[in-house]
Amino acid sequence: MLPFHYTRAGDIAEALRILSRDEGATLIAGGTDLVTLMRDGIRAASHLVDVNGLGLDEIHWLPEGGVRIGALCRNAVDDARLRREYPVLAEALRSGASPQIRNRASVGGNLLQQTRCTYFRLPEFACNRRTPGAGCSAIEGDSHLQAIFGASPQCTAVHPSDFSVALQALDAVVLTEGTRGRRRIPVDDFFRLPGTTPHLTTELRRDELVVGVELPGGPLAARSHYVKFRERASYAFALVSAAVAVEVRGGTVRSARVALGGVAAKPWRSPAAEEALIGRPLDEEAAAAAGDAAARGARPQRHNGYKVELVRRVVRQALSELG
Ligand SMILES: Cc1cc2nc3c(=O)[nH]c(=O)nc-3n(C[C@H](O)[C@H](O)[C@H](O)COP(=O)(O)OP(=O)(O)OC[C@H]3O[C@@H](n4cnc5c(N)ncnc54)[C@H](O)[C@@H]3O)c2cc1C
Repeated sequence: MLPFHYTRAGDIAEALRILSRDEGATLIAGGTDLVTLMRDGIRAASHLVDVNGLGLDEIHWLPEGGVRIGALCRNAVDDARLRREYPVLAEALRSGASPQIRNRASVGGNLLQQTRCTYFRLPEFACNRRTPGAGCSAIEGDSHLQAIFGASPQCTAVHPSDFSVALQALDAVVLTEGTRGRRRIPVDDFFRLPGTTPHLTTELRRDELVVGVELPGGPLAARSHYVKFRERASYAFALVSAAVAVEVRGGTVRSARVALGGVAAKPWRSPAAEEALIGRPLDEEAAAAAGDAAARGARPQRHNGYKVELVRRVVRQALSELG
C-alpha cells in the first residue's frame, strides 16, 4: 500500500475543502471495500478523509411521510419501523455480506462500492473501468458473473449492492452535498451505465459526498420484498436479485415496482414487469407474467445465459411470496 495522509473530518465543510484542494483525496467510511482495493493496488489515494465524525449516522422520520437514512448508518441498521414500513430495504441490507462486515460498512459506502468483476479486482488483467482504454478481459474471458442488461463493448461488470436494488424499487433519492451546494438525485440517475466511459460509475462529483438517502413512504413501500439468489446461502453477492413493491386495492394491483440486482452496472428497473402486474390480482399467473416480462430484452454474454432464466424465477418468487 502506498503512503497517504489521513484526516478525520470534523464537519462536512472540512471534508469538502480537502476534496477540492487535493485531487488524490478519497473519502473513507467503514473501509470494507476501499481498504481492500488500496491493499491490492487497485486504487490509490494521497489523502484519506474519514467521514465517520460528520454526524450522518441517524434515521429521520419525515413529518410529511417518508424517511431519511444518513450515509453513515451501518448496513447492520436494525430499526423496527424501517422493517415494518420498508421491508424490502431491511431484507436487502440483511442479505449482504456477514454480520461483522454489516456492522462496519456504511450505507453510503454500499452505494459507492466498486464492482466485484474478477478482472477489475485483479491488476494483472486489462480493465477499462480501472484504466480507461486498457481493454476488457471479461469480453473474451469468463462471463458467468457479468451483466445481461445495459452492458457495452467496453464493460460488462455488474453493481454488487443489494441496498441500491431496494432503493431503486422504492423511488429513493440520493442526497449529496458539495462545494457547489446540495443535490437530490433520483437513484436511477445516480448510477451510470458503462457506455464508453465505464470508469465513471455514478453522477457523484469529485468535490461532493453522499449525506444520505430519502425514501417516500406509503402502501407501496410497506408491501415490498427482496429475494436474492446466490452461490451460497449467505456471505455471497447476488447472481440475480429482485426487489418488488406492490400496492393492491380492491383485489387488483394499482401500482408496482420491480428492480433487479446482479444483472447490470446499476440497479435495473423493469417497467415491463411492472406493467405486466397492473390491473390484475397478485396471483401466480401475474407473478409469472412479470417474471417473463422482466427477462425480455436481456442480452446474455457467452457464459451467463442462466441469468435470464434466473431473472424469470427470482421475480416470480418474490411476487408470489408477496402475494
Ligand atoms: C466479503 C464482503 C462481502 C460483501 N457482500 C456484500 C453483499 O452481499 N451485498 C452488498 O450489497 N454488499 C456486500 N459487500 C460490500 C459492503 O457492503 C461494502 O463494502 C460496504 O457497504 C462499503 O461501505 P464502507 O462504509 O465500508 O465503504 P468504504 O470502503 O469506506 O468506501 C467505499 C467507497 O465509497 C466511498 N464513500 C464512502 N462513504 C461515502 C460518502 N458518504 N460519500 C461519498 N463517497 C463515499 C469511498 O470513497 C469508497 O470509494 C461485501 C463486502 C465484503 C468485504
